[in-house]
Amino acid sequence: MTDPRHLVATANRLLNNEGVLDAFGHVSLRHPDRPDRYFLAVAKAPPLVGPQDVIEHDLDSEPVEPAPGRLCSERVLHGAIYRSRPDVMAVCHHHAPAIMPFCISDIPLEPVNQLGGTFGAAVAVWDSHDAFGDTNLLVTRQDEADSVAASLGAGWTVLMKRHGALVAGRSLKELVFRAVHGCDNARALATARAMGGHVSPLTEGERALTAELREAPVARCWDYWIDRLDRAGRVP
Ligand code: MN
Repeated sequence: MTDPRHLVATANRLLNNEGVLDAFGHVSLRHPDRPDRYFLAVAKAPPLVGPQDVIEHDLDSEPVEPAPGRLCSERVLHGAIYRSRPDVMAVCHHHAPAIMPFCISDIPLEPVNQLGGTFGAAVAVWDSHDAFGDTNLLVTRQDEADSVAASLGAGWTVLMKRHGALVAGRSLKELVFRAVHGCDNARALATARAMGGHVSPLTEGERALTAELREAPVARCWDYWIDRLDRAGRVP
């Protein structure tokens, strides 16, 4: 399975099956042969996306082929990240219930377990109000998307206040790994906080040592989630 349109459709469905994407949110993949292009689905609920819904965009986030539907309104996020981060091959924007408590409070989203360390050393926080004032919170303008990309910096996850998160990866499998385990980490942290006890996040040293993703566990998780998708009869 190497066709990029098929991979993007699969990632949409997998991330929905694992509770990261619902009716909203989107995931893209940089073109394997053309770094100035990426693949993203048209505006459609992620579990319903098929390979035919995925179209090629340039880094201005303009489609380079006819689209079978309305374009994703927040597609500028993807182009901005691919332009600013040559090492990034895949991007996901989501509003998973697991991370929303950290988007609407001052409680920091910190890594609290080994897999949570894949967030990177620190999770950046971006607030649209800081530079753009009152908006409808959707990131639809190039300058807004560039601002999110600047906030991400060299990291892998940025929380968008009162909105959601943006996650990046050096491969599609790495992105999916980070997005799913990032939500698991957020859920564990929120539950512990709600229990009222003292929470001990990873130390600085532990964060540095867990941030680097290894290929074997990333591939293992991808296979596991694909199997779950297959059992649900949802593989595109
Ligand atoms: Mn959004």
